[in-house]
Amino acid sequence: MDRFTEPQMRPPQEAHSLLLRATQGCTYNKCRFCYVSRGYPFLAVTNEELARKAERARPFFPSTTPIYLTGSNPFALPFSRLASWIAVLRTSFPRFARLSMQARIGDIAAKSDEELARLAGLGLTHLYIGTENGNDAVLALMDKGHTAEDIVRELGRLDKAGITYTNFYILGMGGKGRGVESGLATARMFNRVHPARITTTGLTIFSNTPLSDMALKGAFVEAGEREKIEELRAFLGELCIDTFYDGIHYLNPLNFRFRVGDEGARAEALREMDDVLASMSDEELELMVGRKHMHSL
Ligand code: SF4
Repeated sequence: MDRFTEPQMRPPQEAHSLLLRATQGCTYNKCRFCYVSRGYPFLAVTNEELARKAERARPFFPSTTPIYLTGSNPFALPFSRLASWIAVLRTSFPRFARLSMQARIGDIAAKSDEELARLAGLGLTHLYIGTENGNDAVLALMDKGHTAEDIVRELGRLDKAGITYTNFYILGMGGKGRGVESGLATARMFNRVHPARITTTGLTIFSNTPLSDMALKGAFVEAGEREKIEELRAFLGELCIDTFYDGIHYLNPLNFRFRVGDEGARAEALREMDDVLASMSDEELELMVGRKHMHSL
C-alpha cells in the first residue's frame, strides 16, 4: 500500500510533464493562510520508490520528457539526496529535458552556491517558489518565514547558478488597507531579480487554517475584491522587468496572461482593470468573483 496519502498537485505549467511524487507535507508548515499539506507528516520517497514509479512511467513518456517532482517543498532535501534522485531519473529517462519542483526561500538558503550550480548542471533547472509578497509586514503577519531581502538574495543566487524560477504572489495577503502598498513593494522586489514567470492568486480564507481563526477573532480583516484588483493594478503598473505574468487561476479576481515586456498587452490589461473598477460597484465585484463560494482544490 502507498504510504503517501496527500493528493498530488502540480502547477498548471507542468500539465504535460511526467509527474512523480517526491514528498508529502511541508517541512515548514507555518504559513497562516496555507491549506495544503496541513495534517500530512513530511515524507520523502526513497530511491527505490522513485525508481519503481519512473520505470512504470517509462513506456508512456518520451525519453526527453520534462519531469516535475510533486510535493510542497522537495527542495528542502539536502543536495546529496536530490542528486541521488536525479541519478535515478536519468536511469529511466537519460535525456529528460528538465527537472523542476517546489522550493521555499529557506530551502535555497540552506544550499551552497556550488551545490546550486551542480544541481543545475545535473538538470534541475527550474523551481516554483511561494515568495507570496514583497511587503515585510505582510510576510510577517502570515508567518511566511522570509523577508523581501531574503527573497532578493536567494533568487539572485539562483540566477548565478543558472536555475530559472516561477514565483507565486498572493493578492490581498495583508488584509484590508494594505493592497496598493503591497502591490508596489512586490513589484519593486521583483524588479531586482529575474523571474521567468509570476503567477498570482487572490487570498482566500479556507477553514481549518490559522488565518480562519484570526479572521473569526477579528485579528485579520479580508480585503474586498476591489482592493485586490487595485493591488494587482499597482503591481502590474510598477513592474518593469521582462517577465511573463500568468494570472489565469480560479482564485484571481480578474484573469490576465501576457508578457510584461509587451507594452501594448500590459496597457490593455491596465485599461481593462480601470474599466472594471470604474464601472462596477463593490457589491457587483464581490458577486462576480464569488470568493465566499470558493473551495480549496
Ligand atoms: S511553505 Fe508552502 S506548503 Fe509550507 S506552510 Fe507555507 S504555503 Fe504551506
